[in-house]
Amino acid sequence: LYPTADLRAADARHYLHPFTDHKALAEEGARVIVKGDGVWLWDSEGNRLLDGMAGLWCTNVGHGRQEIADAVHAQMGELAFYNSFFKTTNAPAVRLAERLAAIAPAHINKVFFTSSGSEANDTVLRMVRHYWALKGQPNRQIVIARHNAYHGSTMAGASLGGMKPMHAQGGLPIPGIVHIRQPYWFGEGHGMAPDAFGLQAAADLERMIRTLGPENVAAFIGEPIQGAGGVIIPPASYWPEIQRICRKYDILLVADEVICGFGRTGRWFGSDYFGIEPDLMTIAKGVTSGYLPLGGVMVSDKVADVLVNLGEEFYHGYTYSGHPTCAAAALANLDIIQREGLVERVANDIGPYLQARWAALADHPIVGETRMVGLIGALELVPDPKNISNRFTPTGAVGSIARDFAFQNGLVMRAVRDSLIIAPPLTLTHAEADDLVRLARQTLDLTYEELKR
Ligand code: PLP
Repeated sequence: LYPTADLRAADARHYLHPFTDHKALAEEGARVIVKGDGVWLWDSEGNRLLDGMAGLWCTNVGHGRQEIADAVHAQMGELAFYNSFFKTTNAPAVRLAERLAAIAPAHINKVFFTSSGSEANDTVLRMVRHYWALKGQPNRQIVIARHNAYHGSTMAGASLGGMKPMHAQGGLPIPGIVHIRQPYWFGEGHGMAPDAFGLQAAADLERMIRTLGPENVAAFIGEPIQGAGGVIIPPASYWPEIQRICRKYDILLVADEVICGFGRTGRWFGSDYFGIEPDLMTIAKGVTSGYLPLGGVMVSDKVADVLVNLGEEFYHGYTYSGHPTCAAAALANLDIIQREGLVERVANDIGPYLQARWAALADHPIVGETRMVGLIGALELVPDPKNISNRFTPTGAVGSIARDFAFQNGLVMRAVRDSLIIAPPLTLTHAEADDLVRLARQTLDLTYEELKR
């Protein structure tokens, strides 16, 4: 049915992939994924894989939901596309905005639509500067972000992100963006109580604000849990302290909810989980479960009042802002999340179930730490769990070996440095969670054996 060899050859000839070592890809041949159903994927050679990464941290309702396909089909038949520039709007986008306001924290009631998380974070950079200009403080230009963050791949997204290899390409970050440390206890906090470490990491923000002068700082941005940076779950003390500092210096707090949003943590948003009230939240991924591209900036009343009432149009927008078909996909996706109680399920059922089994992997001879909130977690691989400060060298080689073993054996995980990451669909059943953990343990065993060779 699928001419795998032909597809691989054409892929190597014509297709430049995102974040891919193309020489290695050409040697190995890309795996052609042809079907998805629930948490399962199939490749063109008939192999089944458990999608431990929910597509790319996004397929929250699982693959193959006919209901979303039907909603998209119906909307395309009615009005596939129209813009919402210049005093026009469309019903699905309006309904989606209304719906998002209802699930967001009470102080957030407006949304600006984009097509992706990168565009949402680009929009934030312009929006916060515009906000301060309208408020008569145009010097507030600088946005403080964090090392190891991922906020997208556009010039602004990659600049707000704190990935050194990305910065090294193309002369980033662009001016007006600075970075502070991330609250990575396993990497930097050994010997400290996690909450004390969280406060110490947050204190970096205050130091940076004072160095720059608060009158020059527009906003702070962070992922409630850093995803691509390695599922960095901050101690409980961290976010409230960050919020306190932002309030103290009147700096806008922006939560990048692209991964954490829509149930991943067992709450609608990661901000809810950590008990903070950001001024802006960026969303994408789980809002449509990845069925169609859609993102946005959710705007608090405080910011919206200035944008709306202090006049001057915001010269910003995308052709596909409020795309009716993408909005229809999002509405159908939210219907599923709500009808099936997926957020509550992550909080009270499958989340605790998987967390307990994931934590049990800590007995493995190459696991230094296990961590998970809701359904997002990581395993830190180390040469000697009794001495967790020791690391494999070179960094990342063991993580990649393990990730490849998992992939060959039917489990999609991601490697970040020498950690293994999972963020499966929120529909994961108990039996599938058992499969996931069994495959993860098999991966660890194979990796351990390989290291002994
Ligand atoms: N923000 C976070 C936290 C992300 O994880 C991502 C993508 O992985 C983005 C932003 C960028 O989103 P997109 O790839 O839709 O542009």
